[in-house]
Amino acid sequence: PAGRLDVIAGPMFSGKSEELMRRVRRAKIAGVTVLVLSHSLDTRSDLSAITSHIGVNIPAVPVGDVDSLAEAARAEDYDLVAIDEAQFFGPDLVPVVMELVEGGATVIVEGLCVTFDGGPFEPMPTFMAVAEDVLKLTAVCTICGRDAVFHQRVGAPGRTAEESEPRATDIDASHIGGSESYVARCREHFAPPR
Ligand code: ADP
Repeated sequence: PAGRLDVIAGPMFSGKSEELMRRVRRAKIAGVTVLVLSHSLDTRSDLSAITSHIGVNIPAVPVGDVDSLAEAARAEDYDLVAIDEAQFFGPDLVPVVMELVEGGATVIVEGLCVTFDGGPFEPMPTFMAVAEDVLKLTAVCTICGRDAVFHQRVGAPGRTAEESEPRATDIDASHIGGSESYVARCREHFAPPR
C-alpha cells in the first residue's frame, strides 16, 4: 500500500525543526524504522545532526543533493523518511519524495515555504498541495510579537541589506544562518527587499 506525505512548513524560527524532531522521537519510541536526512550545506548544524534554534539536535544523515538523498532513502525499506530543510534540495526533490510515498513510506518534508522577499519557496508549496497533512507554523514577530509568516534578512555589518542581497531563491550558504542574518516579521512589519 502507498504511504503518506506530511508537511511541516513556515518561515525561519517557526519551530519547524523542533516539530520534526518531536515526530522523529515519537516514531523511534514506536519502533518504526526512521531515516532522517539533512542537507550538508546546512552549516548551522553538526553535519550528522539536525539542530533547532535552541540547540537541541537529533542524528541525521547529511546529503549534498537530490541524487544522494534518493540513494540513501532507497538503501533500506524505511517506514519513515524525514527531510530537514527541504528547500535546499530544490524542485527535483518532488519526484523522489513521491516515489518514496508511492512505495509505502511515510515521508515528512520540513522546510521554508517563503523566501526572505516574501514569495513562495519551491518545492514546499508543491508538497503542501499534495500532502495528506500540512502543518503551517508561524514565528513571533521581533517587533510586535504577533504571528510572523515571514522572515527577512538583516544587513551584514558594514554593508546594507541590499548590498549583501542574494537572489531570494539562491540555494547557497548565504541562505543559511540563524538569528545573525534573519529576523521573523508579521505582515505589518515585513519590509521585503526592493
Ligand atoms: P525553524 O526550524 O522553523 O527555523 P527551530 O525549531 O529551529 O525553528 O527553532 C524554533 C525556536 O527558536 C523557538 O522555539 C524559539 O525558542 C526560538 N526563537 C528565536 N527567535 C524566535 C522568533 N522570532 N519567533 C519564534 N521563535 C523564536
